[in-house]
Amino acid sequence: MTETVDVVIIGAGFSGLYATYRLSKQYKVICFEKGAGVGGTWYWNRYPGARVDIQSVEYSYSFDDDLQQDWKWPEYFSAQPDLERYANHVADRFNLREHIRLSNAVESLRFDAENDLWEVRTAAGDYVRCRYIIAATGALSIPNEPPWPGREDYQGVIYHTTDWPREPMDLSDKRVGLIGTGSTGVQAAPILAEQAKSLTVFQRTPAYSMPSGNRAMDEEHERDWKENYPERRKEILNTWGTSMVTYGEKSAHECSEEERTQVLEKAWNSKSAFQMQVAFTDVMTDMDANEVVAEFIRNKIRGIVDDPETAERLCPKTYPVGGKRMCIDNGYYQTFNRDNVSLVDVRSAPIVELTKTGLRTAEGEYDLDIIVMATGFDAVTGSLMNMDVEGIDGIKLAEKWKEGPTTYLGYMIAGFPNLLMVHGPMTPGAQAQMITSGEWQVDYLAELIDSMEADGKTRVDTTEEAEQWWYEETQNVAMHMVHRHADSWYNAKNIEGKKGDFMIYVGGFPRFTELSRKAAENDWEGFDLR
Ligand code: NAP
Repeated sequence: MTETVDVVIIGAGFSGLYATYRLSKQYKVICFEKGAGVGGTWYWNRYPGARVDIQSVEYSYSFDDDLQQDWKWPEYFSAQPDLERYANHVADRFNLREHIRLSNAVESLRFDAENDLWEVRTAAGDYVRCRYIIAATGALSIPNEPPWPGREDYQGVIYHTTDWPREPMDLSDKRVGLIGTGSTGVQAAPILAEQAKSLTVFQRTPAYSMPSGNRAMDEEHERDWKENYPERRKEILNTWGTSMVTYGEKSAHECSEEERTQVLEKAWNSKSAFQMQVAFTDVMTDMDANEVVAEFIRNKIRGIVDDPETAERLCPKTYPVGGKRMCIDNGYYQTFNRDNVSLVDVRSAPIVELTKTGLRTAEGEYDLDIIVMATGFDAVTGSLMNMDVEGIDGIKLAEKWKEGPTTYLGYMIAGFPNLLMVHGPMTPGAQAQMITSGEWQVDYLAELIDSMEADGKTRVDTTEEAEQWWYEETQNVAMHMVHRHADSWYNAKNIEGKKGDFMIYVGGFPRFTELSRKAAENDWEGFDLR
């Protein structure tokens, strides 16, 4: 028998869980989840050191005051097991499991234009028809594994960080190679170094990282947040990255050397990587101002790392601070002072192939028992592109997006009616704290659905003109920001062969929400309602 529901939600990560909560109050909802548990990112990413890089008092749901008052975070920056526990708690507390089907990946979506219904087929054989789809598929769920030759010859074990096994592993007699030094590599390195016999870090581009200052939650801090949640949550929505910062009031050029140091020392110890980006008014728009911050961080690295040559190699010099997601670490640079850790530069001598015993770069061979790929993700579009999605007139999403994604405000794709996205291409993505910005987007989409229901509409699409406008806004805004000088997953330049347009909206969350609200208030301008 074919099931018909109002809404199918894809993904039971933090946005999918909230969408399930919000929409199941009024509508018949099914949420399909590929994993065997809820939590999305925090279900899959259980590599050593996996931890959130935003304080958990902020990186948590705001939709239910009892929840935010009751829940106790053990540390300032929660480790993966605590975030997964939280996701499970939310699923239980709000009875969401009755709507969720685990281990059930969506394989295909087909729009039935005659009836304005989507047909959803899943790996477990479910076939469901629904009026709306909410794709909460996550920006970072399809692993990027560079296609080095020789993989089948390698006799050790390879793990991508997102597929780290659930069972504990004894690494004490293992020679571990870690490829990649983005947020993931920077978090994994200190723990792998402690656990493994030896750790070799293969670095192509060094990261800017600052200390997290993580520690056990202190009661005073927790009480302060809990007493002030309503105002803080509101304030957070008005910050560039939906995370609490204190905006610098002066340009870096207006400050004396002494003032600059004072401001930057404070930012360095702020426990927020976004703070470095707003320490002066022009860090993210002026390359010279940015260089002041960059050199401050390089000097910190030189002060931490004992070996001057290693320190210099760890200093980022080819792109601006904040151009890629800045990292926040628990002793990353200190790791390179250990005797069992070495750093290999694979920019000057790239990895050529995997061998029977390890890997070979253009300069030498490395024997490794385990290779850890912290090589990032086929980000933003990967998960939707992996499904067979067919819109109006048989148009395939993979075909439409083959040159790169186009969307209207990140929510919709022309020709794919009633398919609504959270954290879709050209939303602020990880340039905004994902739980809060996800809640905001889900509320927005719920408002759209509610208004359609109230007006008796059955179809919402967008137009190519609206997509073109948003494409230009997204690319233009990036041209005013230092982001344009960095290759990253924000502009798909982390994957060879991709066009390199910005897939992340870097104009800040307040501007994104302002434009979204304006569209809603102008009778859903840019959305084509029928
Ligand atoms: P990433 O930032 O894309 O970093 C991937 C790393 O792999 C880079 O250092 C990259 O070098 C390297 N790499 C890729 N292909 C390579 C190749 N062929 N040869 C050598 N090196 C190669 O991915 P990620 O570290 O997984 O982080 C992705 C995002 O996830 C972050 O930006 C953040 O938003 C999120 N994240 C958050 C947390 C947290 O909350 N704590 C933790 C982890 C991740 P290049 O830079 O030269 O390309």
